[in-house]
Amino acid sequence: MINEKYHGLGTAPSVIRELFAYGLQQAKVVGKENVFDYSLGNPSIPAPAKVNETIKNLIDNTDSIQLHGYSMAPGFENVRQAIADNLNARFNCNAKASELFMTCGCAPALVSVAHALTTSPEDEFIAIAPFFPEYNVFFTCAGAKLAVVPADTVHFQIDMEALEKTINEHSVAVVINSPNNPSGVVYTEETLKKIAELLDRKSKEYGHPIYIVADEPYRELVYDGVKVTFIPNVYDNTIVCYSWSKSLSLPGERIGYVYVPEKCADAKAVYDTVSGAAREIGSVCPPTLIQKVIGECVGEMPDLAAYEENRNLLYNSLTEYGYECAKPDGAFYLFVKAPNGDAVAYSEKAKLEHNLLVVPGDGFACPGYFRLSYCVSNDMIKRSLPAFKAMIESYK
Ligand code: PLP
Repeated sequence: MINEKYHGLGTAPSVIRELFAYGLQQAKVVGKENVFDYSLGNPSIPAPAKVNETIKNLIDNTDSIQLHGYSMAPGFENVRQAIADNLNARFNCNAKASELFMTCGCAPALVSVAHALTTSPEDEFIAIAPFFPEYNVFFTCAGAKLAVVPADTVHFQIDMEALEKTINEHSVAVVINSPNNPSGVVYTEETLKKIAELLDRKSKEYGHPIYIVADEPYRELVYDGVKVTFIPNVYDNTIVCYSWSKSLSLPGERIGYVYVPEKCADAKAVYDTVSGAAREIGSVCPPTLIQKVIGECVGEMPDLAAYEENRNLLYNSLTEYGYECAKPDGAFYLFVKAPNGDAVAYSEKAKLEHNLLVVPGDGFACPGYFRLSYCVSNDMIKRSLPAFKAMIESYK
């Protein structure tokens, strides 16, 4: 006897994983250098040197029982204080250790918040297309619905009218992911202020707070000095989900947090409920060693030069060939319009004819576009350019 829902989730095909596996297989046939794999969002720049130095130092100088033991449920107080101090210095916000709950990455942070805020099967979380496909799993498995605001395919900001129409008495929260996976776009402060004004108005109208769940693993990955607005500074009822998976290139270490600012509606209850939800999903006591590393490395910033070089090369080349896409300000993704509007067909053709692996936007709730993860080597991008050119020419 097994749970059919989870069996379905465990066996559902994943376009991204299938492309990745195809790439590995093809590398054996045509050679690694002839496969152009843009499928995975796995950071390609190393973690800052201080991370490994800190790990070595901790291993050499900390009692083994302590270093590999459990931490308390919310995480170590001194680590949370270091994170709060860092947030305060950068965003002028007044975060406190007691408002931070450490998690095993951003996914468990989002799932804990989804469970914590869901009280009825009619509850709705609102996602703005294009969005991270796992939201479908995170929010529906918490027992809520996921309502989708169609993409603004001109600037990939947010269609305010469509958002307003999506909000109703069952709305619990709007999920905001900026810099965005898959568009790479950073929502402007103007956009975020408009959302704040809209949610304030709608919260009053329906008599309950409508939260923003800020999904921010790409917060520090921005180019050209673009500012990423810290959403709690423009909207009080914001719950932040964060991880160092992308910013410090530590996705395998599974470390992140939920931040529930005191000024948030029912903050203490929300925080305690997130803590309870984390128990239910078994995501407790994030790794002690990595928590301690974060405590010492929270001020480290990624060296984005390699991503920026990749972004510029890819964006400039593709637009020169005639592709259309919004210039990404952050993350490591480019979201490109498929030449004839059928991204699934484009992806299949690119795969079969050129070993060029791109992810159709359908899974991101934005058909007609495909995603390129440019956390790859610059050399691979250079080698792949003729394939992109041949592909667009084949549609002319
Ligand atoms: N949110 C977005 C938008 C992501 O792209 C990802 C991972 O790719 C996550 C959340 C999950 O992050 P983590 O690996 O820290 O769980």
